[in-house]
Amino acid sequence: MKKEDCIFCKLANGDIPTATIFEDDDFRVFLDAGPASRGHALIVPKEHYANLYELPDELAMKAFLLAKKLITKLTPVFKADGYNVIQNNGSAAGQTVFHFHMHLIPRYVGDDAGFGWKEHELDDGTRDEILELVKGIYL
Ligand code: 5GP
Ligand code: ZN
Repeated sequence: MKKEDCIFCKLANGDIPTATIFEDDDFRVFLDAGPASRGHALIVPKEHYANLYELPDELAMKAFLLAKKLITKLTPVFKADGYNVIQNNGSAAGQTVFHFHMHLIPRYVGDDAGFGWKEHELDDGTRDEILELVKGIYL
């Protein structure tokens, strides 16, 4: 399904032209319009799924395999020193476009693509509480 008012549906399906670096039956991979670094690209399925929760298993597997193949090929092309593969779900997690996508962000020593998190201490009480909460979660 495509979503009428979704910009990534239009970009992924070629209704709006975009700087495409790869395309197959399921995905378009195009350059991010606001790149964190030189070569920042997005893997975007052609069907509309809001996030990873909604993405069918088969497409989830294909997306990650595609990420692996692309960063393997692109690292020497961009002369990158490393790669971040990032995927946000929900506005609290930084998602701003609500059509599933994976960020492929080449990293260069000394670049300013600064993101990360503040480290907190994992105290014994919190650790035990979390282990208790997830006990019995079967996948
Ligand atoms: P999110 O924050 O949802 O994980 O990432 C959304 C990404 O989409 C951002 O990095 C933003 O720069 C990019 N983006 C938003 N609108 C467009 C657009 O119209 N075209 C392209 N190529 N990228 C977009
Ligand atoms: Zn969409």
